Amino acid sequence: MDHGKLYIVATPIGNLEDITLRAIRILKEVDVIAAEDTRHTLKLLNHLEISKPLISYHRHNEEIKTEILLEKLLEGQDIALVSDAGTPGICDPGEVVVKKCIEQGIKVIPVPGACAMINALISSGIDTKEFVFLGFLPLNKKLRKEKLEEIKNTKKTIILYEAPHKLMTTLTELVELLKNRKIALARELTKIHEEVIRGNIEEILKKSENLKGEIVLIIEGNKDIEIKNKFENLSLEEHFEFYEKQGFEKKEIIKKIAKDRKVNKNEIYQKFI
Ligand code: SAM
Repeated sequence: MDHGKLYIVATPIGNLEDITLRAIRILKEVDVIAAEDTRHTLKLLNHLEISKPLISYHRHNEEIKTEILLEKLLEGQDIALVSDAGTPGICDPGEVVVKKCIEQGIKVIPVPGACAMINALISSGIDTKEFVFLGFLPLNKKLRKEKLEEIKNTKKTIILYEAPHKLMTTLTELVELLKNRKIALARELTKIHEEVIRGNIEEILKKSENLKGEIVLIIEGNKDIEIKNKFENLSLEEHFEFYEKQGFEKKEIIKKIAKDRKVNKNEIYQKFI
């Protein structure tokens, strides 16, 4: 008998219209829906007028429930995995069953749709070319410190999920660490109170007291690293020429080179006399 297939189905992150026609069809066609919270998913299914056997699959029973799902898949049943909101496996249960299915040769099929981090990123106004998604910052002090260091030292845009009651603590830590980097706070995306607040971290901190709802933080990468790397590959002469072409005076250029290369300006001055 052929194995069944596991569909990873994205569901809305607020606005119930944000579900694809394909996702609705798959939810209607599968034999079983595995849901993070069956009561929550039932509301969506009722809205879509779909009636289907549900099985719970949440973080605390992922291992056990994976075995049950695997049995069904090996018997030939098709399963749709959904989480409470957005894309399963992204800060939501999913990765355990996906890994096990791959080991067993069961087909895993993504059914794309809403994901909070992607929608926050694309509306942030911050670079989208390269980014790192760090999920929720760990609460453990040591691990948290490591993550904060990572944020400080990457030139890529950083995406964090944050709970409203921890927002002020996190922003305060970020101000201390990153001074005034650009940041966007995306809140309640696709819902009635949707907003994206943009500014430097200090400004956002001031506006964030008592903010409620679901929140994503998009933080600009470390531009200093970018500048440093950019000039590291230039000879001093090329570096000089770079600013000369922009019309800067010799004295100004020397100052700028020293700053870019993080060396004393006298050192650069000596090289150009
Ligand atoms: N799987 C989900 C996804 O695809 O984005 C994420 C689930 S995670 C448990 C929940 C977190 O996602 C929230 O704490 C918040 O940081 C973010 N989130 C979910 N929905 C959101 C929304 N409508 N607006 C802003 N952030 C949201």
